[in-house]
Amino acid sequence: MKKLSLLVLGLALACNSSQKTVSEAPKPVVDPVPYAETITQDDLKEHLYTYASDEFEGRETGTPGQKKAVEYIKAHYQSLNVPAAQSSGDYFQKVPLEVSKVPEGSLSINGTSFEVGEDVLTFAQAKGNYNSVVYAGYGIEDGDYSDYSGIDVKGKFVLIKAGEPVDDSGNYVITGNMEKSVWSNASEAIGKKRDIAKEKGAIGVLYYDMLSFPRFQGYFQFMKNNNSGRMQLAADGTDEILIYLNEDAIKALKSDIEEDNVPKSISADIEMDITSGNDQIDSENVVAFIEGTEKPDEYVIISSHLDHIGITGDGQINNGADDDGSGTVALLEIAEAFKKAADEGNGPKRSLVFLHVTGEEKGLLGSRYYTDVDPVFPLENTVADLNIDMIGRIDPNYEGARNYLYLIGSDKLSTELHNLSEEVNKKYSNIEFDYTYNDENDPNRFYYRSDHYNFAKNNIPIIFYFNGTHADYHRPSDTPDKINYDLLENRARLIFHTAWEIANRPLRLVVDKAAD
Ligand SMILES: [Zn+2]
Repeated sequence: MKKLSLLVLGLALACNSSQKTVSEAPKPVVDPVPYAETITQDDLKEHLYTYASDEFEGRETGTPGQKKAVEYIKAHYQSLNVPAAQSSGDYFQKVPLEVSKVPEGSLSINGTSFEVGEDVLTFAQAKGNYNSVVYAGYGIEDGDYSDYSGIDVKGKFVLIKAGEPVDDSGNYVITGNMEKSVWSNASEAIGKKRDIAKEKGAIGVLYYDMLSFPRFQGYFQFMKNNNSGRMQLAADGTDEILIYLNEDAIKALKSDIEEDNVPKSISADIEMDITSGNDQIDSENVVAFIEGTEKPDEYVIISSHLDHIGITGDGQINNGADDDGSGTVALLEIAEAFKKAADEGNGPKRSLVFLHVTGEEKGLLGSRYYTDVDPVFPLENTVADLNIDMIGRIDPNYEGARNYLYLIGSDKLSTELHNLSEEVNKKYSNIEFDYTYNDENDPNRFYYRSDHYNFAKNNIPIIFYFNGTHADYHRPSDTPDKINYDLLENRARLIFHTAWEIANRPLRLVVDKAAD
């Protein structure tokens, strides 16, 4: 790969800027080394022996141990006088999570009650009283055919049935012959019918499919038995409600549904009392920032995950010193170095965001919340994410030749980022960069397995820094005494220098390989 030296790049940019003004004296280039040197083994060690101590109980998302972790991080930024990133001044970005379970409750129609799981099936929460529903036959709109002409379903529940219309001579109305259309395909049709109802403004669908009901019921039971315990981002409650009715329930609502295809409003006394069994979990990201001096609206993020996997079934604490205590304390120290520079009038030109995310071990939830639900700063103004997840150990491949680091993703979106990263390393750190896991075909798929991925999928250039796995990975033996603090220091300084360069170069990183 072609490399561009910093010297050549610097000259090119100097020529460029000289065209603009003649009177402005060039500012002396600030040497970042004294600031990098504030990142020390001793400081890292002191932080990590607390952060990965038994007191933090393995920092599992939503547990008291995780709350201790976020308080520890917040206290550090407060003591440094590095402000919260959110305009509210709150260091904690609330990340609402839930542990999914199938709902419970009942639906009553004209005084008869039908139980969820028996007569009616749904995965949504539904509460309220209604005095009518709108019947829309098959619920189809296709070409000239519509089951919605002459009815208004806005704000109502719509009742539809499976299948498609057939005319008197036995031809399917949609195809005009004896061939069935896609509307007869049970699993495909239901999604299409639901989408149409949603487009028309219905709040939910009552669905009758006598043939498929037993299959839906089997799926419901499977979910009930197997899916409790999976953590996810909490739903925002705007999903459309889909409720399957069995024969008994449909008899109470519209006993002639098989014969009648005419759309109409149906008066009925309907009470829904279906509650989601989901356990709500409060969790939080911690986000601090240093405002840029020249381009405050461009943001460079450095991230690491604050959570780990908690306590094992037999009571052993997973301290997570490497995963990701190492990344967390590195980030705390990197922030401190930038703050010292800022206090001496050498603050970064672009804003630096210190993002400690929750829920990584549960499926990259905190970073996904940041990118997909509530980016504190606009993603389009986010220049890069440097993500640190496990940088304090040596994997079995490098015993003996210990000064190495795996880099993943650096060349995926921005050639400039990759080159910059290499140059910075040569100039300041001299670590052997190993790109084994950067290979698209690597079976470990690490590119998709830590928080940077949520930025990369938005075409934000990333680098993922990683020491590889080891025998203590995700085990109670991942403890602070096994960390190589000299390596942790050197690696943290490298990331500081890389962030410094990204934040201070005259032009924003070019994204030359954006995906569509
Ligand atoms: Zn991790």
